[in-house]
Amino acid sequence: MKALQYKEIGQPPVLVEIPTPEPGPGQVLLKVTAAGVCHSDEFVMSLPEDQYDYGLPLTLGHEGAGVVHRLGEGVEHLAVGDPVMVYGPWGCGRCRNCAQGKENYCTNAAAEGIRPPGLGAPGAIAEYMLVDDARHLVPLGGLDPVENVSLSDAGLTPYHAIKQSLPKLHAGSYAVVIGAGGLGHVGIRMIRQLSGATVIALDVTEEKLDFAREVGAHHAVLSDEHAVDAVRELTGGLGADAVFDFVGAPPTTKIAAGVAAVEADVTIVGIGGGAVQAGFGTLPFDAAVRAPYWGSRSELIEVLDMARRGQVSVEVETFTLDEAPKAYERLHEGTLRGRAVIVP
Ligand code: NAD
Ligand code: ZN
Ligand code: ZN
Repeated sequence: MKALQYKEIGQPPVLVEIPTPEPGPGQVLLKVTAAGVCHSDEFVMSLPEDQYDYGLPLTLGHEGAGVVHRLGEGVEHLAVGDPVMVYGPWGCGRCRNCAQGKENYCTNAAAEGIRPPGLGAPGAIAEYMLVDDARHLVPLGGLDPVENVSLSDAGLTPYHAIKQSLPKLHAGSYAVVIGAGGLGHVGIRMIRQLSGATVIALDVTEEKLDFAREVGAHHAVLSDEHAVDAVRELTGGLGADAVFDFVGAPPTTKIAAGVAAVEADVTIVGIGGGAVQAGFGTLPFDAAVRAPYWGSRSELIEVLDMARRGQVSVEVETFTLDEAPKAYERLHEGTLRGRAVIVP
């Protein structure tokens, strides 16, 4: 089968021909119908050799959807041909967090060598994909795989981040979203749908600011040295009740801290190497800082429910498997509108 693999440190991913895997006991082989391209892949491929521990070659893609192609021995409640979405943050299924569906916070995964697809295990940007357990599949339930595959990360991650802060996003409140890219634009839509907050989006180009307004931001502000003042002014000097930083780089974590209101939630989702200092006098009183990772199995079901009710959708640009390296180039250039989705 064809697969997009990261093969050599520092080199772009390449399309290769590899054997189609066979599902072992308890495993499920999917024929991939759609796979999303995430900025985290770029982060992984930017790591120097001494920090890279995802294995080589690595088949990319941690957002996957497909139809069940073959069932391993003992798999129940699934049939060949079923359309499904992959829950990516695989855990052990047995620890306290996994028992609550929070496999993203599995306490055994590292010790047991359990890695998400595309981030250690072979990923979704291929013609076929091996899923380790039927527990990690959610029925698509009528949703189009290409339009919705990115809900498994670009939807689930902002949903998990935003859900914890909903008590702060009452009528009259302000939410700031930094980075209107793959995750950020879905985050804007979710905040609009789930809360009464006024949404202020930040990004670095006028095109991205227009895009942020199109997907529901009430205000869009350039993410530069004037951004903190601009947001303070829009919020009547008070700052934002919840800040979601989908970039997480030093300039944006500085803005995130700078625009926080008293008792704000400051949530750093992006993994750009930035940090927010917390300590008396460093942030407005009682502000809380979080750095969440992905989301739980039940939250993915909730996100798909939102999609089926027309409450959230993803803007996608599609690429064939042959064009997949181009999708990563566009991600790197920052010219994608929404999410790049590979359709094998
Ligand atoms: P993306 O490339 O699709 O979007 C990033 C957006 O940020 C773009 O619109 C870009 O123009 C904008 N941007 C860049 N620099 C900026 C700045 N200084 N100020 C404001 N905006 C800026 O990326 P994505 O796939 O949406 O991922 C976003 C981040 O979230 C990445 O760091 C990714 O690795 C991370 N991520 C984290 C988790 C998690 O669980 N914590 C999950 C998925 C992705
Ligand atoms: Zn991701
Ligand atoms: Zn676990």
